[in-house]
Amino acid sequence: MRDAVASGWWSTGPRVAEFEAAFADFTGSRHAVAVSSGTAALHLALVACGCGPGDEVILPSLNFVAAASVVRHAGATPVLCDIVGERDLTLDLNLNPADVDAAAGPRAKAVVALHYGGLACDIDALLELAERRGLTVIEDAAHAPGGMHRGRACGTLGRVGCFSFFSNKNMPIGEGGMVVTADDAVAERVRLLRSHGMTALSWDRARGHASGYDVVASGFNYRLDEPRAAIGLVQLARLPGANAARARLAARYRERLDGVAGLALPTAGPAHATSAHHLMVVVLQRAGIRDELRAALAARRIQTSVHYPPIHRFSAFAELSARPLPRTDALAERVLTLPLYAHMTEEQVDEVADALIDEMERVTR
Ligand SMILES: *Cc1c(COP(=O)(O)O)cnc(C)c1O
Repeated sequence: MRDAVASGWWSTGPRVAEFEAAFADFTGSRHAVAVSSGTAALHLALVACGCGPGDEVILPSLNFVAAASVVRHAGATPVLCDIVGERDLTLDLNLNPADVDAAAGPRAKAVVALHYGGLACDIDALLELAERRGLTVIEDAAHAPGGMHRGRACGTLGRVGCFSFFSNKNMPIGEGGMVVTADDAVAERVRLLRSHGMTALSWDRARGHASGYDVVASGFNYRLDEPRAAIGLVQLARLPGANAARARLAARYRERLDGVAGLALPTAGPAHATSAHHLMVVVLQRAGIRDELRAALAARRIQTSVHYPPIHRFSAFAELSARPLPRTDALAERVLTLPLYAHMTEEQVDEVADALIDEMERVTR
């Protein structure tokens, strides 16, 4: 990072290329294109897959708002679908392939499949239905760098995968993102649109590799810079260790919280999926106690959050609330995210678990 700053070349250059190569290698993808954020990655993935005016793009409502916003920026219409919810005594907060099938009308072009909390969604069912219905699968792998499914990396299971390196994600660099794909045409399109649709980068021109350029599409400035790529190389090397630490801490939480009255834990997933453990989510059995519980935990200096207020409840997306989303509606009021980060200690997990058990008893008494 100091070298990147001292080099005097701060915009996209050789460290970005090195970061891309390392990330492609890590995920086992043919191409990796670094961008300025996870949101930019999603936007470029949609545009590069041809999503535009007249198209519908399906995504879960229990999600961060970014994917829904960029579907609109691409000129397409978001269609919100439901999660799996409670099934066979398990609780699954990932998107529901049967509801994706139901939501897909004649204008449906793509589905943005989130791997909620870092655990792969039911991608087998989604890929089967995408094939049958002619849909493109774009993975929102913002929670899932290092997550695996049947031996393959999350983000490489559909046509395009999108990652975020925002400060609170598993692999933070400040702001940044990555698009991965095995599709040469999509990769080329993403590269072009990332930098104004220009046929040559300033870096190429500075090195004398190109003297002029053409603009062959209306693009964006979604480039990543050199200092952040240098940080990314360091963070990528740390990611497996950090994810392993998250897995141990999540296992400790499960040990402490499994079977506690009033609480349920989302499924840890099938044996063929390895979570990146981005989030430690618990589900309160009773609705209406979450605010009080959060305030009580905050008073004990324990920060909690909610992933997510569903997209269809926001004013900007109210028109999308016509589609019934009963499982999302039933669970969104009751999800609670506990602290989880790689350098957390097992003692801190115990402290949070003790406080949660304590306060649960108090607020439900
Ligand atoms: C963080 C996140 C994004 C957006 O990533 P940024 O890098 O913050 O733009 C998109 N989708 C999901 C699910 C996320 O968690």
